[in-house]
Amino acid sequence: MNPRSITFQLTAWYAALLTAAFLLLGVFLYFGMRHHLHRSLADSQSKRARVIADTLVARVPETGEAALPQEITDRYAPEINSRFIRITHRDRGVLYTSAAPRDASFDPALIAPVPQPVKKTFTRIEQPADGNDLLIVTVPHPAAGAPAYTVEAGAPLAAAQAVMRDWLFTLALAFPLVIAGALGGGWFLARRAFAPVERIIRSAEQITQHNLIERLPVARTGDELERLSAALNHMISRLDVAFQHNLRFMADASHELRTPLTIIRGELESLLTQSPPAPDLPERIGSALEEVERLTKIVESLFALSRLDAGEAQAESVRFDLAQLVASTAEQMCLLAEDKHITVTCRADGEVPVVGDRARLKQVVVNLLDNAIKYTPADGRVNLRTSTDASQAVLEIADTGIGIPADALPRVFERFFRVDKARARAMGGAGIGLSIVKAICVAHGGQVEVSSEEGRGSRFKVTLPLATAEIKKEGAHVVS
Ligand code: ADP
Repeated sequence: MNPRSITFQLTAWYAALLTAAFLLLGVFLYFGMRHHLHRSLADSQSKRARVIADTLVARVPETGEAALPQEITDRYAPEINSRFIRITHRDRGVLYTSAAPRDASFDPALIAPVPQPVKKTFTRIEQPADGNDLLIVTVPHPAAGAPAYTVEAGAPLAAAQAVMRDWLFTLALAFPLVIAGALGGGWFLARRAFAPVERIIRSAEQITQHNLIERLPVARTGDELERLSAALNHMISRLDVAFQHNLRFMADASHELRTPLTIIRGELESLLTQSPPAPDLPERIGSALEEVERLTKIVESLFALSRLDAGEAQAESVRFDLAQLVASTAEQMCLLAEDKHITVTCRADGEVPVVGDRARLKQVVVNLLDNAIKYTPADGRVNLRTSTDASQAVLEIADTGIGIPADALPRVFERFFRVDKARARAMGGAGIGLSIVKAICVAHGGQVEVSSEEGRGSRFKVTLPLATAEIKKEGAHVVS
């Protein structure tokens, strides 16, 4: 048994609390009961003493003190009832003391006299030498002025003490049973409550990268455990997706790198084995260099992607005009389009302020414009447009190119996806450009969408949060 386990700690707490509650209740009941028993005995003795005082002692002027013993014996029979009655005169001392009871439960002779004069009623517990405690109530008579008589009425505490002893005995018997019950019950309840956790732990220990499709058992308890197991399962699903994604990414990346490497190697080997050197040596070195260029681009793209994945999409965060960035980038890339006789127009209506990483957002424009030019045949058109829409900056790049088939549209932002591998490869594309665009847009709190019709052209729409103007607010400058 692990003392640090929750089951153990819950059981220990449960047992400790139950034991403490039981002890407290026991002590409370013990003293409550004792108080109650003493009070009811005191009440009855007080009543008796008062009745004797108000009836028998009050009539002494008529009947005389000598009649008292007989009258008390006749009315109360203290020897038979095991009661103690004593009447004392302030000056003449004890006038009457009841005889020893028949059951010898106490000895009246051992009860010490009360010091005179007695001015008010009081209760005391006498503990005579014989060990039989007596509860005695003393009542003065007459009650007002200077009382001449005191009447004492008492009864043994033995019966009440016996009840208390029985009670203590029952408590002592029940105590170990309660502790055992609390420990057993606590252990059982804690084990039952944590059984689903045990199952989850056992299943979780079995899950590795090789069986990420397995899931943890979901305890249908409707409580936090059900939520925990469901949340863990969702996490495993996400890990599974990410893991599969990574595996695919690595496979695609190595495949992409292998092809140009094979070509370069083949070219170089054939050059090496030829003597005299081939007459087309410069062309073949040129072709190998082209492949090296392609490789370099792929590696650079992969590097850019891995940095984006690592959360480095925003190396800087500055406020700038997206319209201006788009116009200048389009101008720089015009030559590419001119070579293919493609007309590039750029419509930027006014300032479109955004906050972000200028270089990365320029990459977005370059990749989209490059694709538009790449996939548009000669004499086609590419239109760039920047605008603002509510709180958003919008960049649209539309072309009259080959378009994208409807079934490929949802996948164009996936890594290494190309509609037509052979054609894209011939154009130098590895299928990473759009995934970089998407990663940058998402990192800037925006998004990119595509709509396209095969044979008629494509339209890419980038939306980014618009940088709000500098607002003067109660003397403070807020720039967002
Ligand atoms: P690539 O480097 O191959 O161009 P991208 O990620 O930029 O990779 O694009 C993915 C694929 O989407 C491309 O291979 C191409 O098939 C398609 N595509 C992208 N832009 C366009 C466009 N403007 N017109 C037609 N097809 C496009």
